[in-house]
Amino acid sequence: MANFELAGLSAAPGEVVKGHLGHVTLADGNKVGVPVVIVNGVEDGPTLVVTASIHGTEINGTGALLKTVNATDPTQLKGRLVAITVGNPFAFQVGSYFSPVIAPTGDGINMSSAPMWPADSGGTVTLRLAGVIGEAIKVATHSIDVHSNPPDAIPFTLIRRDACPDETVLAEMEKMAEAWGFTVIDSPGRSATGVVGSSLAHGIPSMTPELIADFFLWEDNINSGQIGITNVMKAIGMLEGDIVAQATTPMQGDFYMADRLTSHKGGLMWIKHPPGTFLREGDVAVDMMDVWGDLIEEVKMPYDGYCWSFTGGVGYTQVVPEGTQIAFTFRER
Ligand SMILES: [Zn+2]
Repeated sequence: MANFELAGLSAAPGEVVKGHLGHVTLADGNKVGVPVVIVNGVEDGPTLVVTASIHGTEINGTGALLKTVNATDPTQLKGRLVAITVGNPFAFQVGSYFSPVIAPTGDGINMSSAPMWPADSGGTVTLRLAGVIGEAIKVATHSIDVHSNPPDAIPFTLIRRDACPDETVLAEMEKMAEAWGFTVIDSPGRSATGVVGSSLAHGIPSMTPELIADFFLWEDNINSGQIGITNVMKAIGMLEGDIVAQATTPMQGDFYMADRLTSHKGGLMWIKHPPGTFLREGDVAVDMMDVWGDLIEEVKMPYDGYCWSFTGGVGYTQVVPEGTQIAFTFRER
């Protein structure tokens, strides 16, 4: 079997190679690169690209990926795992969801909204880093973009059925999602950007598992990510062994992502039911209280459904101004 070559890195069969996929250059000449670990197997097989910390606050995906890399024996592997451990190094560095404002470009890009393949090679630094990740997607047979919600959430995996170009890609994506072992939620109507959009647009099955407790390297959530990635490697024929059940039993149903709930008053968010609780249309999901202790708004479910997480937008605090998206919801078809 020939060496696996990617972006100037070369991995022999059975070799683990660590480096950067590519770089952008800052004003002072420092280079910012996208870190990668290639775990190359001893037999041919799939090329699974897994990205983490595309949102810089969601670092437990990085933790799960690093544990998976360290636990994967390349001599037992068919194909290779391409672990992009920090998808957005700008955001990761400063603990920010988006890229920070990088003077004088503005930037402040959400890497999930960045085109990766084809990339915006004339764009600002974050958009150019997206193109660096795109180079890995070009050689992938499968990809996974690991994200994470703030602590008050259920674990789930977002898939995109309407973005699959054919039945084969659809079936492979659904196989990956089932193997990962979280509740599966379809998310129609999204753009062909980010890892998943760029992959599916080119017929590469892909999905977005969402762990819990974004900022924290808590053992149980890290483990669920490691179980998920390893299960997918088993399901697509990279590793031998049985699928391992996740600690949280996945919800059964044909679910899809619905609207977010919005606060129309500023104040403190009091969450009325744990995430994943079935709520009927009109049930109060969140009470808003002002800083004088008065209940000023009941934020109600506009349909029968569920909240998967409660966040103050991307600020992760339960104190929010009016006009904040405070919960993500999903429904059953
Ligand atoms: Zn995210």
